[in-house]
Amino acid sequence: MPRAIDMHVHPGTQEYVIDAGAELHRHAFEYLGRKLEVETGAEMAALYRRLDIMGVVFAWDAETATGLPRVSNDYVAGLVREFPDVFIGFASVDPWKGKWALKEVERAIVELGLRGVKFQPIAQAFYPNDRRFYPLWAECARLGVPVVFHVGITGLGAGVRGGDGLHLKYAQPLHLDDVAADFPELTIIGAHPAWPWQDEMLAIALHKTNVYFDLSGWSPKYFPPSLLRYTNSLLQDRALFGSDYPFFSPERWLRDFETIDLKPEVREKVLFTNARKLLRLDEASR
Ligand SMILES: [Zn+2]
Repeated sequence: MPRAIDMHVHPGTQEYVIDAGAELHRHAFEYLGRKLEVETGAEMAALYRRLDIMGVVFAWDAETATGLPRVSNDYVAGLVREFPDVFIGFASVDPWKGKWALKEVERAIVELGLRGVKFQPIAQAFYPNDRRFYPLWAECARLGVPVVFHVGITGLGAGVRGGDGLHLKYAQPLHLDDVAADFPELTIIGAHPAWPWQDEMLAIALHKTNVYFDLSGWSPKYFPPSLLRYTNSLLQDRALFGSDYPFFSPERWLRDFETIDLKPEVREKVLFTNARKLLRLDEASR
């Protein structure tokens, strides 16, 4: 078993960074003060191996709203097949694709062996609590896999006039509260510190035990105090390590995580134990 599981990884490859991202990703890297770099799957795998961590790699499909090509579930399944010691795959489907999305999510889980589904409501331009998408959440619940929703501000389109036309409103955590209430059997992960709605996210997780959150995309040094406090106490079983590679380096995240004040047993839960339980790695047969 690795020493940690990174619950939030994008392919740092041409397919995601350049082809599926275009201006959105260029602006994200500029906003974050990082150089836009492209790696191969093998280079990514080598990084995760060197750090002795596993990574949950996300597919990407925001075709309807962005007009950009997707990073297919087959592509991510291919990375997992090639580097099974370091990668676990999560699917992506564009919720606006209706019946196709329902079929694709089943195929991705059942046939391709992916272990969860990632949504980005800002890029995909939808409200998670819109009833038109409820069949999709029902299908994810039936398949028994966790569902990740981006919450809070995004680097995509950040720092330019009009934010590349993206709307932050879709990523307000409160929309997830409806989904969590209506699908108690569904495990929901809010991705990233949910700034500027951090306390809203914490309230939802306190109220509903099927709600988790990952800590990706931010240096732990800059976590809002409420996030740190609840991670160290009442929500210690629901907080998950995530980096948001390639936008944030897992190496830096882990280094900065060392410097924050958390109980040792909480540290272990955040880095590894919570993710292992959530992904059912013990009972996994792959
Ligand atoms: Zn991300």
